[in-house]
Formats: sequence, C-alpha cells, structure tokens
Amino acid sequence: MVARGTAQLIAGAQPSIVFVDATHPLVRRATDQDLVLLGWYRDAQCLLLQLDEADDAAAALAVAANDDARFEDLRPLAPQIDATEAGLLAYARAIVHWQRRHRHCGICGAPSVPTRAGHVMCCTSSTCGTEFFPRIDPAIIVLVSDGERALLGRQASWAPGRYSTIAGFVEPGESLEDAVAREVLEETGVSVAHARYHSSQPWPFPASLMLGFEATAAPGSIARAGSELEDARWFTREELLAGAAILPPATSISRRLIERWLRPQDATRR
Ligand SMILES: [Zn+2]
Repeated sequence: MVARGTAQLIAGAQPSIVFVDATHPLVRRATDQDLVLLGWYRDAQCLLLQLDEADDAAAALAVAANDDARFEDLRPLAPQIDATEAGLLAYARAIVHWQRRHRHCGICGAPSVPTRAGHVMCCTSSTCGTEFFPRIDPAIIVLVSDGERALLGRQASWAPGRYSTIAGFVEPGESLEDAVAREVLEETGVSVAHARYHSSQPWPFPASLMLGFEATAAPGSIARAGSELEDARWFTREELLAGAAILPPATSISRRLIERWLRPQDATRR
C-alpha cells in the first residue's frame, strides 16, 4: 500500500486499498527508509511505501495503478471502509504520523532515521544513537449514567444538535479510573463512581487509543458545561430514541457505548 504524507492510495466508490506489487517501479526504486513492514495481509507480505510528499511525478505513477485511484486521508473515509482494511489503514497512518514527528532526536537534536523495517526511529549521532519507538496517547471516553439518564456533551465546533460521550486525555501519573472521574467532573461538574472498562478503539488522528468506560453518577446530579464544552446535559432513553440528539457515527466507540446503554438487552445478546 502507498502513502503520500498521511493520505493513502485508495480506489472505488466503496473505497478500498490499492495494493501495488513488488514489480511496480515505485517499489523497485524505493529505499529501506521509504518502506514500513506492516506484516502479513491476505497471505502476502504487506509493506507501506511512503512517497515524498513533494514528488508529484511519483504520486501520478502511483495513481496510474488503478482507474479510480486517488490519495485520501482516512478520517472522512473511515465509515465507508471495510473494518479490516480500516484497521490496516489506521496502523499505517499511525506509523507515518509518528515517523514524521520524530525526524530529530529528542535528546541531542541530530537527525533520526527509520530502522528495523520502519518501526524504530534511530538517532544518527554516533555518540548518541538513541532509539525511539511508536507512541500512543491514551484517552478515556465514558458513558455516564445516573440509572435513568445518560450524560452527553457537545463542543461548539460540532454540527448543531450533535452530542457525544465525555472524553479526554489521560494525564501523566494518573490511573484510567482517575482520568474518568477528573474529565467528567471538569467537563460537566458531575461526580462519578464505579468506572468500569468496556472496550477500546484505536484513534490514529493523530495517535490516540480510546479506552471506553461506563460510570455511574448519583441520581439527580446537575450537569453544567466546563471550559471545553458548549453544553453538557442529561438525556433519557426515550429522548435519544426519539432523536433529541444527533449521535456520533455508528463506527465510533462513543456510539457503541451509547447504543449499549440504550439497548442493554441487544448488547447482552451480541
Ligand atoms: Zn541523539
């Protein structure tokens, strides 16, 4: 598969990854530093080829591989892409972003270069040589309920009427449970207890791992928006099922947490 910056080569009205094989001229002339080994995919060794972003000729050659091929960024495409391909694109995008943000050693400032099939960035200074590994930023996302209602918030930049679960980054030295309690209190003024882990979702925009929780608030807790939200409020199941809020996309962990709360009997059956 081929990337130009964080955009990736895809094709089709129902987008799918365009793979080029080892005989493609772009692959034949690639150096080790242009390639990232992603592993085995559909019984073939899968590598990511990174094109120079400024090289329009290389991009044109890549697009020529397929009638409808084009470079697009994953985020707007994610809801339309097959889940397995989306996972591969997310992996590749995360590695590209990490490499691009670690072009210099954080210790001595010398340039760093990709090594070990692209999974280590190594300082080129002979006296330093520090190795840097891919990083992810943990973030919590939580469905808070008081038993009868769910606590959702909205940012000012979102489309009117859209609400989502409360989320935020984990701070250094903090447990996940503490992060849940702090974020909910800061963003909504609500105190929660009994944070329980539910599931997770990689979120390579740019480098997060979303850790999904459910938490309980005291009945009658009053919500007020903190500095990061335009509004925070409680919704009953009836309100949400009647469309009182525009919910996040079906592929998001936020929606998964909301749906589980809305329809606990369905979640149990799955
Ligand atoms: Zn160094």
